[in-house]
Amino acid sequence: MILSGATVVTSLDPVRVVQTDVHVADGRIAASFGGASRDCSGCLVVPGNVCAHTHLYSALARGMPYALEPPADFTQILQRIWWRLDRALDEESIRASALVGGMEALLSGTTTLVDHHASPSMIDGSLDLVSDALASLGVRSVLCYETSDRDGLAHAAAGVRENRRFLNRVRGEELPLARGMVGAHASFTLSDETLAACTEAARDFGVGLHVHAAEDGADERDSLARCGRRVADRLQRAGALDEHTLLAHGVHLDDDEIGLVHAAHASIAHNARSNMNNSIGRARLDALGEQVSLGTDGIGSDMFEESRTAFFRLREDDSGTGGDWPLQRLARSAELAGRAFGEPLLGTLDVGAPADLVVLDYAAPTPMHERSFAGHWVFGLSARNVRDVMVAGEWAVLDRQLARTDQRELAAAATVAAERLWRRLDEIPAHTFEPEGGQ
Ligand SMILES: [Zn+2]
Repeated sequence: MILSGATVVTSLDPVRVVQTDVHVADGRIAASFGGASRDCSGCLVVPGNVCAHTHLYSALARGMPYALEPPADFTQILQRIWWRLDRALDEESIRASALVGGMEALLSGTTTLVDHHASPSMIDGSLDLVSDALASLGVRSVLCYETSDRDGLAHAAAGVRENRRFLNRVRGEELPLARGMVGAHASFTLSDETLAACTEAARDFGVGLHVHAAEDGADERDSLARCGRRVADRLQRAGALDEHTLLAHGVHLDDDEIGLVHAAHASIAHNARSNMNNSIGRARLDALGEQVSLGTDGIGSDMFEESRTAFFRLREDDSGTGGDWPLQRLARSAELAGRAFGEPLLGTLDVGAPADLVVLDYAAPTPMHERSFAGHWVFGLSARNVRDVMVAGEWAVLDRQLARTDQRELAAAATVAAERLWRRLDEIPAHTFEPEGGQ
């Protein structure tokens, strides 16, 4: 396959822009190769976006009715919304969530999802439902099950088992587009025993722990009440903080904790829109520094929108933030996924890299080159420019339509599943789990 006539961005950090045909062979960017040609003249070809933290299980929550007292803080948001929704999920709704979430990811130019899945009423096999749905669309993914003690010890044990089961499947089968991590909810819903079981599973499989960390102050207060140490300190002493670890949010990490995260070379997924939506405070992006990647925390998977919002939120406080900041964050997200796949070139379009790419139909109104690209990203480009998407050398989107599935039928089926899910939700009361240390 040859993508001809485009301007090609081969790397986001540092930005490299070249005028070249893109050759794809055996799922990878090739030096040159024959085969069919697709006209991409006037288009921009960029590496596929990676979302470093999302929750596909929340895809059917959009517009969901809410009849309880409005939540007054982050814990109540979990108790009254997300810890009700997750218990209402069944096989049909897990599958529909993954399909419709995967569809929206592809259509917005996101080729890899690092997902954190929860479905306490159907834990065993749930990661197969997600991975099979995403594979059917052609989305690359790094999956895990969100282990937690909030629904009791049996659920916590089942969560660890599901992570191990799926990691065994990844190890034993040819799943070209899926890898695993060990998922854990957050320090404040994890006993020492469950945290140790997660850490042991991660070590056994040589993967990282994917866990929310210091998203809200309640997580820190709980950890201090539980063991007299802050969250990152607790994780570090449990052996849960290393170069494979992915911490989501990290909003309330203090200087000492950030020092621990840096020393461990762990990654932090920043989720700007979710942080704003949940009123949990602002991540200290200056202190968190280079190890920050970008996720959506389940607010879709549009990384144009997420990176732009994160940029403007940061600029509001610091006008010195450069336009290359969102590109660097997206490069870190891709590196994180690349480590999971053993593909260090993932996120670039260098020869040998997995052919995960997006063709943007973009009539640039100003010159496009290495020094201007960041400006185009922040002020011009968006998911509406996404024309074609390729993952591992296979087309997943062509001419703004899913290449392998009828997207209208898929969305219609999801709507039916959502109505059923919302009806079940009416019967589920607010969760009663409380963190230690109070609000
Ligand atoms: Zn999250």
